[in-house]
Amino acid sequence: MNKLREIKQLIEPQMVLEGAGVRLLRSFGPHTSNLYDPFLLFDHFAFNDPKEGPIAGFPTHPHRGIETVTYMLSGKVRHRDSLGNSGEITAGDVQWMTAGRGILHEEMPRRGEDNTIYGFQLWVNLPAAQKMGTPRYQEVKEAQIPQHIKDGNTIRVIAGEIDGVQGPVNEIAAQPLYMDVSMSPNSTFEHAVPSDHTCMAYVFSGSGKSASQELHSPQMIIFEDGESVSFETQSEPMRFILIAGAPFNEPIVPYGPFVMNTREEIMQALDDLKKGTFVQDSQI
Ligand code: MN
Repeated sequence: MNKLREIKQLIEPQMVLEGAGVRLLRSFGPHTSNLYDPFLLFDHFAFNDPKEGPIAGFPTHPHRGIETVTYMLSGKVRHRDSLGNSGEITAGDVQWMTAGRGILHEEMPRRGEDNTIYGFQLWVNLPAAQKMGTPRYQEVKEAQIPQHIKDGNTIRVIAGEIDGVQGPVNEIAAQPLYMDVSMSPNSTFEHAVPSDHTCMAYVFSGSGKSASQELHSPQMIIFEDGESVSFETQSEPMRFILIAGAPFNEPIVPYGPFVMNTREEIMQALDDLKKGTFVQDSQI
């Protein structure tokens, strides 16, 4: 029998200000305790009520030693980096960016035609051996993300696999699962997750239950160990992002947009920034 995962922690996301004054709902951020190894941060940007003025965005900033995963559901993020990459992450798209030894980029959220901005950013750690690797992008457009229907529930598979349907994001050190699950009312959804992987779900609309506990939105659910996760709905639908990955079990030292393994490596990153040697190729 599959051992169902119980709930370890329910997190109520907190409002934080980041970038040039962007309001975000943060479930957790990087911390030396590394409680959610290999995951470092989960942010939800959903500030359409009340409407803000001009969106300030995230002017040029560095990253080193991590991956940032941006998933948009409405509006878009204009993106430009120090390696000459630029583009738009529009509704339904995912950008899985492996910063490796370093990128300098700007991320500018913009309202969509319906005047809303709605999306998520997850930070995934890199193992020590890959922290200074070559930066890499996996840009996945909405149409490339497979949609799997199971028991009346619709699952967009971004990374990982369900019933042989494979997500397009690949070759990530954390062996991640990243799925957008839309549950119908009066349904159940169960999914196997390797027992040594960290597993969490971010409920962002509707309500339901998991392991006999009531869930509402927005809410981050951290699961105990076990072999599978199970969700159920009653009269309301529920939509959530299901995330899992293999922990690296390495010490981390976070400092702003860098997450390294030692304090010396953080000092090196700051020194590289100062000297202009942070990015190996052309600057922004
Ligand atoms: Mn960034």
